[in-house]
This record gives sequence, C-alpha cells and structure tokens, in this order.
Amino acid sequence: MQIILLGLPGAGKGTQAKVLAERHGLLHISTGDMFRQAAAEGTDLGRRAQEFMSRGELVPDEVTIAMLLERIARPDAAAGIMLDGFPRTIRQAEALDRALGERGAQIDVVLYMQVPEALLMQRLTGRWSCPSCGAIYHELTNPPKRSRVCDRCGAALMQREDDRPETVQARLDTNRAWTEALAAYYGKQGKLREVDGTGEPGKVTARLEGALRGAGSGARGVR
Ligand code: AMP
Repeated sequence: MQIILLGLPGAGKGTQAKVLAERHGLLHISTGDMFRQAAAEGTDLGRRAQEFMSRGELVPDEVTIAMLLERIARPDAAAGIMLDGFPRTIRQAEALDRALGERGAQIDVVLYMQVPEALLMQRLTGRWSCPSCGAIYHELTNPPKRSRVCDRCGAALMQREDDRPETVQARLDTNRAWTEALAAYYGKQGKLREVDGTGEPGKVTARLEGALRGAGSGARGVR
C-alpha cells in the first residue's frame, strides 16, 4: 500500500502516520523530518532546505522531489509507504505518480484529515517538543510536569519556529491553498477520503482505519 496523509498543519498527520505505518508495516516518510535532520547534520541539502524552512516557505520542488524519490527507491520502502508532508505541490504529486508508475505501483489512497481552523490555531501555538528525545507536549492538553522541561529526559523544551502564534495564521493560509489543490488532484483520481480529525487520537486512528478498509478494495479493483 502507498498511502498519503493530507491535512493542514496541526491536523495530527505526524502522530497518525506513525501509528498507521507501524500497524500496516509501511515506511513512514516525513519530508519535514528529513529536512530537519539534514539541517541538524549540516549537510548541503540541510543548509539549502533551512533557508526556506526558516522563512516558512516550501523547499524548491527539484530539491524535495529528488530527496523523496531517492528515499522511496531504497529497499525498506518496497513493502509500502506512508507519506506525511509530501506531496505539497502538483509538480511533486505528478513526479510521485510517474516514479511509482514506472515500477508498476501507484498511490492507493489519500487520507485527508479535516480539523476546524480555530482548533488548529489552538493546537499549533501550544506545541512544544524535546530536541533531545523527541517527546512532544502541549500547553493545554499534555503539559510537562515542570514548565518547558522534558519529563522523560530533563532537556529544555523548544517551540518550533513555525509554531509561534505570529507565524501560524500565515502558515495556515498558504497551506490551505496547496492542500486544497492536492485534494482536488487526488479527488479527480478517485483516491481521496476525507476523515474527521477531531477528538481523541485513538478515535481518529479508528476513522482512518475505516477509510483505509473502504479504500483498499476500490483501489485494487482499478488495476
Ligand atoms: P513539516 O514538518 O512537514 O511542516 O515541514 C517543515 C518544513 O519543511 C516546511 O515548512 C517546508 O519548508 C519543508 N518541507 C517539508 N516537506 C516539504 C515538501 N513536500 N515540499 C516543500 N517543502 C517541504
């Protein structure tokens, strides 16, 4: 299965992608994580990506597409992939379709997680993460015991630059534009499934699983 998880920032794509990938034996690929890791390692790719990331802009297509295609060509992607944060442009979607098509594969389903914008604002501006162990907290729903200190490893928590309130609204606006364009692109292919992304993470997972079950037979029927 090749699955894309679509949704605005804060919709919970990362969390759900990890759970679903694990359950279905898929490789979870987050291009945002790949760029952040490259930036932390100080590679050429990371330095290039960082320029755009720190401005809240998309990394250029040619860089992003090359990185993603190289990743999905590796053996550990053969059993299936769960894409989170890619594609973000129609050019990326087309390049992905072409690359999968060349090896007789295709995107089976695109799960579009829907969350009202007011809730996204609340979620995005309260998120803090641990730079050391990766634990994620939220000021309202999952605060650490000591303010801004990681419960697990004691490191000082960090707020991602693009989670700060002043940048969140602009980020939602630009993201909405391309997310809707991609939803239309996959909608035309009959692959889009809209899923309610509100409520407890476990309930959202169950809804996503339901959409996956519904999609599997239809997508296979096309081949
Ligand atoms: P994310 O963690 O998915 O929000 O990604 C963080 C940043 O990485 C984004 O704001 C972009 O600058 C960059 N990025 C991640 N995925 C892509 C993509 N598919 N196309 C272009 N830029 C991306």
